[in-house]
Amino acid sequence: MSTTIGTAAPLPLLDLAGETEALWDELNAAVQGVIRSGHFIMGPNVRAFEEEVAAYLGVRHAVALNSGTDALVIALRAMGVGAGDEVVTTPFTFFATAEAVSMVGATPVFADIEPDTLNLDPESVCRAVTPRTRALIPVHLFGQAVDLDRLLPIAAENGLEVLEDCAQAFGAEHQGRKVGTFGRAAAWSFFPSKNLGAFGDGGMLTTDDDHIADQARMLRAHGSRKKYFNEAIGYNSRLDEIQAAVLRVKLPHIDAANASRLVAGRRYDELFSRVDGVRTTATRAFAAHVYHQYTLRVEGGARDRVQAALTAAGIGTMIYYPVPVHRLPAYGLPPGTAPEAEAAAEEVISLPIWPGIAAEDQERVARAVAAALGGGQMV
Ligand SMILES: *Cc1c(COP(=O)(O)O)cnc(C)c1O
Repeated sequence: MSTTIGTAAPLPLLDLAGETEALWDELNAAVQGVIRSGHFIMGPNVRAFEEEVAAYLGVRHAVALNSGTDALVIALRAMGVGAGDEVVTTPFTFFATAEAVSMVGATPVFADIEPDTLNLDPESVCRAVTPRTRALIPVHLFGQAVDLDRLLPIAAENGLEVLEDCAQAFGAEHQGRKVGTFGRAAAWSFFPSKNLGAFGDGGMLTTDDDHIADQARMLRAHGSRKKYFNEAIGYNSRLDEIQAAVLRVKLPHIDAANASRLVAGRRYDELFSRVDGVRTTATRAFAAHVYHQYTLRVEGGARDRVQAALTAAGIGTMIYYPVPVHRLPAYGLPPGTAPEAEAAAEEVISLPIWPGIAAEDQERVARAVAAALGGGQMV
């Protein structure tokens, strides 16, 4: 560790060194075990990880895949969503949510968000549904469950498939029940920065539906159930055995890691309740939040100034998301399509959070935000 006199050490947006250090011996043994076995594709770790995630969530099937994006694509294919279909989702998400819809030949239709939680707004979903709508993709953004009590009846009334995008919400709950167990299927990502992160890409589809699981297993292996008897145009979308071995080491610790993130999220909420000019993201009573991100809204056009000040102070930040998906060049829809998402994109800033982040580091972040807003100090 190097120290610079007069300057605090850099504080990254995400620091997983502590987690890796704590599990170092187990991770090493797991990876070396795979190397020694010589079994790198679809081996015992993938199978065991699928069973362990299915048991953790309480679902019948877990199908390990290459990425969260593939999980979305394969889930939509398995549901029979394709050309001519519309899929309603949020524009305030990572691009992949909508990209998957386009990749299967369907059209993403963007609803809008609740300005306080930044999650999909059920009212706006009602307005977005047309006779062509086949499916709904709620995203449990930043680790907080969407309002499923209001969304699921809308889906049921309109005969829509529900695919939960759980990429940011491993372990999160809605009314005491794990997210990913409400829709027809759920898509998960094990990208390294996600709450349950691999040492590379990874993803999973989970479902209680035997047909969806069967289709997903077929599609991930080039559309074949039996080797060299391909029955559909599929994908090469398997989770690597080494990644499965790493994830199996981390899975037993996910609840403790999420609990630590929750403590950190609440601490920020308390700190920022004393800072003028910012709005914390609302947390709903029905949600057990897992704080994949901690995201603030900075009011009065001061967001970029706050970000610049934090960067100058050595504090890592990120704008999730600077442009709502419908406004990205890939879609190019007009402004006004989703006004709440467009307004949020101008104000949001995500701050350092990870399991075990020190209280003093969070206080330093809050002080830096308050100083950037001109107050100089916290009230
Ligand atoms: C990360 C993410 C994805 C994509 O997952 P990958 O594993 O990176 O393909 C999809 N949706 C959301 C909301 C995400 O955050």
